[in-house]
Amino acid sequence: MSEQARAAYLQEQMNKLKRKMNQLPLIVYVAMVLSGSCLVAGGYFGHPWLIWTLLIWGLFMSWGVSSARQAKKQYNELLEQMKGVTFATITCSNCQKEIPIGNFEFCPFCGNSLKK
Ligand SMILES: [Zn+2]
Repeated sequence: MSEQARAAYLQEQMNKLKRKMNQLPLIVYVAMVLSGSCLVAGGYFGHPWLIWTLLIWGLFMSWGVSSARQAKKQYNELLEQMKGVTFATITCSNCQKEIPIGNFEFCPFCGNSLKK
């Protein structure tokens, strides 16, 4: 894989993780609301839903928290890899300056096309 493809791949993975991390609090919140209303209904109708809703709530919470933790860990790992990639440089064939590999199509110093 070329450095540029690698950077693009890492960026995509990071975006996916970011979206996941943004969704998790919502999932946990919905689980809380749903189990909360089940709890109220269970109390009202006198059914033993209490234990079940608490169980489901606990499962959702632990799943959400561990997923969030895992996503954060993965994100940090990707960030480290990303650093390694973006710290890699190519040398402009025109002005000989070092350019970080990223989304540059032209040399930011002299405007020389970097496409081969
Ligand atoms: Zn240049």
